[in-house]
Amino acid sequence: MSPPGGKVLLRTGPGVRPHVRRGQLLLSAQPFVYVLKSDGLRVRCSYCLEKRDHLHRCSGCQVMYFCDRECQKRAWSEFHRSECARLKKVSPRLPPDTALLLARLIVKLRNGGDRISDRITDTRHRSFKDLMSHYRDIKATPRRMEHVAALTVVLRSFLGPDNFPNDSELAGMYGRVCVNGFNILDGEMLPVATGIYLSASIIDHSCQPNAAATFNGRTLSIRATEPIPDFTWEKVRISYIDTMADTETRRRELRNGYFFDCDCVRCSAAAAAPGSAPGGGGGGAAAGLERALRCGSADCPATVPLPPDGAAPRCPRCRYQDYPADIGAEFDEIARLTRTYAQDNTVYYDFCLRLLQRQEAAMLHPLNVYRVKTLDLTLEAAISTDMWERCLELGSKLEDGYRTFYGPCSPLTGIFYLKVGKIALYRFQHALAARWLRRAAAVLRVTHGSDHPVYAEQLAPLLQQLSAETAGRERGDELGEGGD
Ligand SMILES: [Zn+2]
Ligand SMILES: [Zn+2]
Ligand SMILES: [Zn+2]
Ligand SMILES: [Zn+2]
Repeated sequence: MSPPGGKVLLRTGPGVRPHVRRGQLLLSAQPFVYVLKSDGLRVRCSYCLEKRDHLHRCSGCQVMYFCDRECQKRAWSEFHRSECARLKKVSPRLPPDTALLLARLIVKLRNGGDRISDRITDTRHRSFKDLMSHYRDIKATPRRMEHVAALTVVLRSFLGPDNFPNDSELAGMYGRVCVNGFNILDGEMLPVATGIYLSASIIDHSCQPNAAATFNGRTLSIRATEPIPDFTWEKVRISYIDTMADTETRRRELRNGYFFDCDCVRCSAAAAAPGSAPGGGGGGAAAGLERALRCGSADCPATVPLPPDGAAPRCPRCRYQDYPADIGAEFDEIARLTRTYAQDNTVYYDFCLRLLQRQEAAMLHPLNVYRVKTLDLTLEAAISTDMWERCLELGSKLEDGYRTFYGPCSPLTGIFYLKVGKIALYRFQHALAARWLRRAAAVLRVTHGSDHPVYAEQLAPLLQQLSAETAGRERGDELGEGGD
């Protein structure tokens, strides 16, 4: 076996359990294999994944693009040497992303990749075969087996029959890729590539995680987003899915995608008391908001649970009960519509507004998960249609929702603050911009670190622009040049 790669950032072992502080880097890793999503082929470098205005096309396959000779050379030695001629042969028909990733994996394992491992601690490391394959689960899922069969056909013609893995080997590789694959995200937290990171694949999931993954190009970093006393790797949890979703959706995605039933604090709280009022922390807060209505009395701050058994809701505090007669059925329909919209790639602003109005009529609690999700979809739609003032309004309404469902210190919350702050700055709303951007700074320092490009190249210049503009304005005021 080759010596394990990667640096151990944290000393752990028998009797050594460090206190991990919020923002501490737990792991930094390079992918074992990865592939750029095909929709980014012409705009991003296939090696470092950076978006560039000018990329150089590989003269061999004429399919992949690279920043420069350096990226091309590295790609050539890591994965492109074996595929360039094959890509040229099948061009313009390219293998699907998963097939290309598996092709790279097959070639890598064949050429000694099976002996490569990544360090987790001084004594623990992981190689590709240590990854969970969920072979039986894959075998038992017809949809998955159909996918494997289709990929086998593509891969056989792409790679040729020599040294081609047998059916169960290929199903094992496919399982490991599906269950352990990371979406490699860009600065806006949108997926640009898929990759396997050997060391990071030990980290389990929680719908209320204490750590988060961020990417700088193809480099994965895992940072603690909460303090972790008496650190062990078993205590670290990241989220594999979108946590701004109801329990049913989260559990379905985890079962279908990762073959397990989540028993995290949030899922357990939801299972123990569906429709209960939100409690303090410990997962109860987000779980209890799933069926939460607001109270109709003026000034009553209570959260009113919609009973799951069809009984009429009633405010536990002031006994308000004047809810629409069909509230149960209407709530189910709102939940269904929100889930459908959340899966759609394009959501129209008008659809969102209508759904928000319906949620208002059904008296959903402002932090109800369906309401927050709809507000988030509305923000996306408003951004894509340049409705900037509306974006700022939606940003303020969404703030508590982000903190509740993603956590006060998650990369998604930080990027959300940054996005709204940037809009406020471009609308010359300096006080508002300052509030949002400072929050973004506090979160992104923890989730990304201050040397990450999102912080250093996006946030920092906005903060500078803000202080320059506000200083300029103050000077203007002094000189009596008039305000805005
Ligand atoms: Zn090529
Ligand atoms: Zn590059
Ligand atoms: Zn969960
Ligand atoms: Zn009340």
